[in-house]
Amino acid sequence: MLSSIRARLTLWYLLGFGSLLAGFSAYIYTSLARDLAQEFDIALLRTAQSISNYFAEFVERKNLAGGARETVNELQFERLGTAIYSGGQLLAAIKPDTVAAVTSTGILSTLAPARGPSFATDVRASKRLVGLVGSEGGVTYQVVVVEPLDGLWGQLARVRRIIFVGLPAALLLAAIGGYMLVRKSLQPVVTISEQAAHISAQSLDQRLKITNPKDELGRLAGVINDLLSRLEASFRIMREFMADASHELRTPLAVIQGESEVALSREGTPAEYRGSLTVVNKQARRMTRIVSDMLALARADAGHQVPVEELYLNDLVEDCCRAAQALAAPKQIRLTYEGSPDISFRGNEEILKRMAVNLLDNAIHYTPLGGTVSVKLTSDSTWAYLTVTDTGIGIPPACVNRVFDRFYRVDEARSRADGGSGLGLSIVKLAAESHHGSVELTSELGRGSTFRVSLPLDSAGNGRG
Ligand code: ADP
Repeated sequence: MLSSIRARLTLWYLLGFGSLLAGFSAYIYTSLARDLAQEFDIALLRTAQSISNYFAEFVERKNLAGGARETVNELQFERLGTAIYSGGQLLAAIKPDTVAAVTSTGILSTLAPARGPSFATDVRASKRLVGLVGSEGGVTYQVVVVEPLDGLWGQLARVRRIIFVGLPAALLLAAIGGYMLVRKSLQPVVTISEQAAHISAQSLDQRLKITNPKDELGRLAGVINDLLSRLEASFRIMREFMADASHELRTPLAVIQGESEVALSREGTPAEYRGSLTVVNKQARRMTRIVSDMLALARADAGHQVPVEELYLNDLVEDCCRAAQALAAPKQIRLTYEGSPDISFRGNEEILKRMAVNLLDNAIHYTPLGGTVSVKLTSDSTWAYLTVTDTGIGIPPACVNRVFDRFYRVDEARSRADGGSGLGLSIVKLAAESHHGSVELTSELGRGSTFRVSLPLDSAGNGRG
């Protein structure tokens, strides 16, 4: 039962409220008992003083025994007992157990002329005593007045009864009220968990109903809804990625299968076999590229940190340009490189190379015969900039923001036929971002495109060499 928050909250509430109530009752009771006892003593003392004053007149007249008797008989109070002593001798007493109470408490021995009144309690007989010392004409006498405590104790017992009955009743009411309150306040949590229990990977488009978005539970539901939106988006991306990936791999696989089946179906010449193997090899290379791109992206998605090393960006880019000349030459494309010397950088050589190669491949690929591709590498104190500009076919403005998406192609026909997978620019973006940088694209349809990668020199202890 205590596993439910409702029960635990109610219990804590009860414990808190109960201790508060018990402490408060104890305080009230002790203050009341103290005040009542004080009032009781004051009244008793006043009576004893009147009796003492009355008796003093007899002492003055040296009529001790007779005066004492007259005093106790004359000043008889219904519930009070009086005893008068002088020189340790009892002169007169009224009520049978008065003397017994005086003896058992030994109050006489505590009385001295200089000390004022003295109080004592006979617990067994539940009586309260007050003793006074008086002296008149050289005679010292003691007056003791005894009053039963049952009235006072009865009063306190009534208060205790009220507390002992009232406290549990108040606690019971508080428990019921508290439980209902907690239940009502937690009801939205129950509703949220019931709704959330119905949401599965197949129904990630469902959202929790929010009644009041401003209260705590409304905010919680809002956070869960945001989480669902993010989950839905990543599930969608994952599904699309899977679908696109299988779609991409299907083409080279189909070519390999078709080509090998044709080659195997009949006896061919060595040249024919060589031709078939060339086709198979080309498609296998294409598949290898797609799979390694996918792997790089999947690793980045999984949060893998790329290992970094000290390198010179200018050397890296220059090497890539040199290699790209082989692609540019057949298309009579003028490929130029202009770079600052010695840009030292801490980064992952492999992924940075792929970034530069992809940018160069694209620039050459989408630039018609006789065009120009210019590569520039510059740096200031904090950033290095790699700019690849071509005079190619350009990218329509509507597609500029999408070309970095995975498997996205501006035009299926313009890249698929040549082995483009639509992952090249995703890798460029990944390379820039995994080095805390960014990539920007400006393009004009029919006139050319410029890709500018900015890489921070300081983020991993980078700096100019
Ligand atoms: P692909 O492997 O198909 O080239 P990318 O991710 O490298 O895939 O590029 C995505 C799309 O962006 C390409 O299909 C192409 O249409 C367009 N693109 C990329 N670079 C250029 C460029 N330099 N000039 C014109 N279009 C480009």
